[in-house]
Amino acid sequence: MKKHNFNAGPSILPREVIEQTAQAVLDFNGSGLSVLEISHRAKDFQPVVDEAVALFKELLNIPEGYSVLFLGGGASLEFCMIPFNFLEKKAAYLNTGVWAKKAMKEAKGFGEVVEVASSAEATYTYIPKDYTVPADVDYFHITTNNTIYGTELKEDLDVNVPMIADMSSDIFSRPIDVSKYICIYGGGQKNLAPAGVTFVIVKNDALGKVSRYIPTMLNYQTHVDGGSMFNTPPVLPIYTALQTLRWIKAQGGVAEMERRAIEKADMLYAEIDRNKMFVGTAAKEDRSRMNICFVMAPEYKDLEADFLKFATERGMVGIKGHRSVGGFRASCYNAMPKESVQALIDCMQEFEKLH
Ligand SMILES: *Cc1c(COP(=O)(O)O)cnc(C)c1O
Repeated sequence: MKKHNFNAGPSILPREVIEQTAQAVLDFNGSGLSVLEISHRAKDFQPVVDEAVALFKELLNIPEGYSVLFLGGGASLEFCMIPFNFLEKKAAYLNTGVWAKKAMKEAKGFGEVVEVASSAEATYTYIPKDYTVPADVDYFHITTNNTIYGTELKEDLDVNVPMIADMSSDIFSRPIDVSKYICIYGGGQKNLAPAGVTFVIVKNDALGKVSRYIPTMLNYQTHVDGGSMFNTPPVLPIYTALQTLRWIKAQGGVAEMERRAIEKADMLYAEIDRNKMFVGTAAKEDRSRMNICFVMAPEYKDLEADFLKFATERGMVGIKGHRSVGGFRASCYNAMPKESVQALIDCMQEFEKLH
């Protein structure tokens, strides 16, 4: 049976990207060696990193003066590296979910943290809009897509301070104005690569402004200077990331990813809104295109486990909602084909007919 992979992360990658990775694990570039058993400093591997950096810059239209880094540690390590490197006195955070809150918690160890707004009181089902960002902060931190709650900031905000964004789960799903940010980061395992690589886009001249000592490995400057090769980077996930970046480019780039994301999300939300058995959990204007969260309508609440079983029997994978939201979550990342979204919609319609 065909599987439709709605996992939230690690998550779906394009089939050809997985095949190319499998091939390189067996024989990297016809070298007779696996990509797993060569030096990261081998002359064949440097071009992999160089091309991945170049494609990042090209696809996201990154202006001059920014570096692209491939590190370890996940987005969660960035939660502490960000304040380590950028927080001198005061930073502002928008609290839109568990990940945002975790980022904020780390920052509190480094300076004054202003929570400009929070939607915690409504289980993060919307993104706060009425708030002011103090003018004297070192940066304003946002989480553009809230993977657990299915809310998303689908446009770059207009604020008068430099922004930093966790884009773990929506990177490459829409064009971004990188010039508004001094740092954009994320775990690779949602829209780019297998787990193990963290991408960081950092504005070079925003570095070196804090007065504290920064441990070598936690200092972005180390990795800017070392071209992500200060120590051994996650070689295999970087190789896969390169294949994904090539795939995005061949498909038509980020604008095409956005067009598809809108198409897929519109299809599924239309069914959620039409089908009497389901309701969406996120405020309509903030609905995520990447993580689509829904629950059973109150009168069908008892059928939640039944629907999960019904859908699983028809090849749906990973649609169980996060434990803090319940219900269902269909993650529709870049690599998710429209056909899989349609298959889920078909399940919802068949299930409705049975009841
Ligand atoms: C998954 C996720 C994280 C955590 O990433 P790790 O790489 O596991 O540390 C952080 N932020 C967002 C928005 C995520 O979706």
